[in-house]
Amino acid sequence: MDFSGFVSMPVTDGHVHFIHPDSMDAMLAVLDQTGCARANLVCLPNPDGTTGNRTALTFKERHPDRVYLSGALEYGPALANLAHGPEMLARQVLALKAQGFDGLKLIEGKPQVRKLLPYPLDGPLYAELWAMLEQEQFPVVFHVADPDEFWDPASCPDWARRSGWDYTDGSYPTKEALYTEVERILARHPRLKLTFAHFYFLSRDLERAAQFLDAHPTVCFDLAPHVDIYRDFSREPARARDFFLRYQDRLIYGTDLDTRVLQRGETGTQFVLNLAWLMRAILEKDGVFDVPANTNWKNYHGLGLPHAVLRKIYYANFVRMYSTIAPSITC
Ligand SMILES: [Zn+2]
Repeated sequence: MDFSGFVSMPVTDGHVHFIHPDSMDAMLAVLDQTGCARANLVCLPNPDGTTGNRTALTFKERHPDRVYLSGALEYGPALANLAHGPEMLARQVLALKAQGFDGLKLIEGKPQVRKLLPYPLDGPLYAELWAMLEQEQFPVVFHVADPDEFWDPASCPDWARRSGWDYTDGSYPTKEALYTEVERILARHPRLKLTFAHFYFLSRDLERAAQFLDAHPTVCFDLAPHVDIYRDFSREPARARDFFLRYQDRLIYGTDLDTRVLQRGETGTQFVLNLAWLMRAILEKDGVFDVPANTNWKNYHGLGLPHAVLRKIYYANFVRMYSTIAPSITC
């Protein structure tokens, strides 16, 4: 996959999963091949109560100039002692900072996880955490909701069902219920530095996406693909391009690169390279573009964004979110 035709700048991938320590070299090779200077390793809590934090720290210890770290919360002690749970979660922010983490990753707004951890995001368990995150200006990559299809029996994909993301039985929170929890959090803590993963699952409703960003001036969306936000953008490219120009300070590049995929060997590597190529082509190329011979991509449309806008999306917006002091980057 040839990335030489894309703009050359210190691209930062804001959304990467590093789960397997033995995939460190494979991950670095992908970052190099795709022209990424740095990646934000976003950690997840494990079902057994542990987290992926330690694994991510090993990456930063070996290659401190290549990664940012967004840690996960540990729930075991806080849930075993609910009376002190709120302050125990909040204190983890300070502990993560002391260990060298640059931010937090919250998967807690994904319906599957929100059901497993049945505590409202705007409820008492998280109250002190939000206050601490706002006070410390500690940035968060926040996964809230999921693609609409996962709640729809007629269109929920088989791969989503196999992953436990079939929400059609009524026992999972709805997308609107999750959005309501977020609105209440932001009403109480308007200075939170939140980056909503996967375009906040609003790629089919750019009007609502615009209203949300207008209402909450400190938040961003990342561009990590879900079912197909890029097909959504390609459906109405002129509208999507207008949105990207208008909200150029609020969008952060991210691929969702994942070592679970790299562990599949050559096919996995090819998959992540293809995806990164497609994302960059859509952001950079103008109109219909030639696709690589080994793909059967159809109906994608480039947005042809100007260099100054690409610079913000590829790294300047990320750096602003992850700096406690205002950065001196000229865009
Ligand atoms: Zn992800």
